[in-house]
Amino acid sequence: MFDDLIMPPADKILSLMPIFRQDSRSNKIDLGVGVYRDASGTTPIPRAVREAEKRIHTAQTTKAYVGPAGDPVFCDLIGRLVFGEAAPWERIRGIQTPGGAGALTVLAGLISLARPGAAVHVPDPTWVNHVSILEDNGLRVVTYPYLDRRTGEVDFDTLLDHFSRSERGDIVLLHGCCHNPTGADPSRSQWQALAEIIAERGLVPLVDIAYQGFGEGLEDDAFVVRLLAGMVPEMLVSSSCSKNFGIYRERTGAAFILARNADRADAAKAQLTVRARVVYSMPPDHGSAIVRTVLEDPALAADWRAELDDMRSSILSLRQGLAASFRRFTNGSDYDFLAKNKGMFSLIGLTPGEAVMLREQHAIYIVEDGRINVAGLQASQIDTFAEAVLAVRG
Ligand code: PMP
Repeated sequence: MFDDLIMPPADKILSLMPIFRQDSRSNKIDLGVGVYRDASGTTPIPRAVREAEKRIHTAQTTKAYVGPAGDPVFCDLIGRLVFGEAAPWERIRGIQTPGGAGALTVLAGLISLARPGAAVHVPDPTWVNHVSILEDNGLRVVTYPYLDRRTGEVDFDTLLDHFSRSERGDIVLLHGCCHNPTGADPSRSQWQALAEIIAERGLVPLVDIAYQGFGEGLEDDAFVVRLLAGMVPEMLVSSSCSKNFGIYRERTGAAFILARNADRADAAKAQLTVRARVVYSMPPDHGSAIVRTVLEDPALAADWRAELDDMRSSILSLRQGLAASFRRFTNGSDYDFLAKNKGMFSLIGLTPGEAVMLREQHAIYIVEDGRINVAGLQASQIDTFAEAVLAVRG
């Protein structure tokens, strides 16, 4: 039965992890995998999360099943974080999922059920797993132009032109904030113009928000979700708690739908729940219990928000340091986009060959497409990194 199976191509991000671990060079730097790192190079467990875990440990009396839709209180709390208080709540429903990837999976299954083989437009480039999850659910992936590689910013005119020609009913995947892998987000006025085209042409937004709080702050990062929720009849949202709560391995997220009316929202939620039941039966509980405990306690919630804000500021100062360093070494502004990009990622503009050279000659690990995780750098490594990039570019 397994004789004809071929090895799948190696995952360009995950395959770096064991190579990095085995690298014995003491000056090695990991800018590959997308996890936040603090100044000591560790991915911290936020203080509020630790405290919540203690409380859960003491208070929990059972590990019985939670049910395919997960904890409704968690869904409500995350829903409010994403959509804000003023959303059309009577038309919104959500279920708890195993991370953002779980949310995307059940949402892709729902789209496929409602519109078999539908076209989903994804930015070029996008997180590689978007394409895999959508195609795995029988959807047709179309790419839309996104990045102006000369400036490192969104190529907005070309993007708008693409959508002004899209078919009614097509689905548009948007990164809610902190675009992965480019770090380039549309400005507010650009989001507004894009939302108008989406509403006007009857496109259905699928917003993936996996880094809320890492760009401009918790509220500002949800701008496009909230904007669209007030403008379109139907939308889908995938939310991840992995990064902003620092609970990556606990697999915590939520899938939301906004429907034309309460009745359609109930039907869509019921079908989402069926997808969950079929794919993984039920989401894990621990992560959502942490998030609920934090968000229900005003003191813990305030502490979590403060720590998240510290993470955001620290990435921002690394970005500014990087841009300044490149300015010094190049006497030019070609890398200024690094300071403008949002969230953990940017494309540094290296070819796959140059990324390999960076690894082999300088012990710096970045993804083959040139993506760097800015949060993987420490302030003391900024100049070393900039010099190495310039050296491999020749
Ligand atoms: N969407 C994007 C854009 C991501 O970068 C990621 C994580 N790398 C996810 C979704 C999924 O996150 P999770 O770990 O919560 O499944």
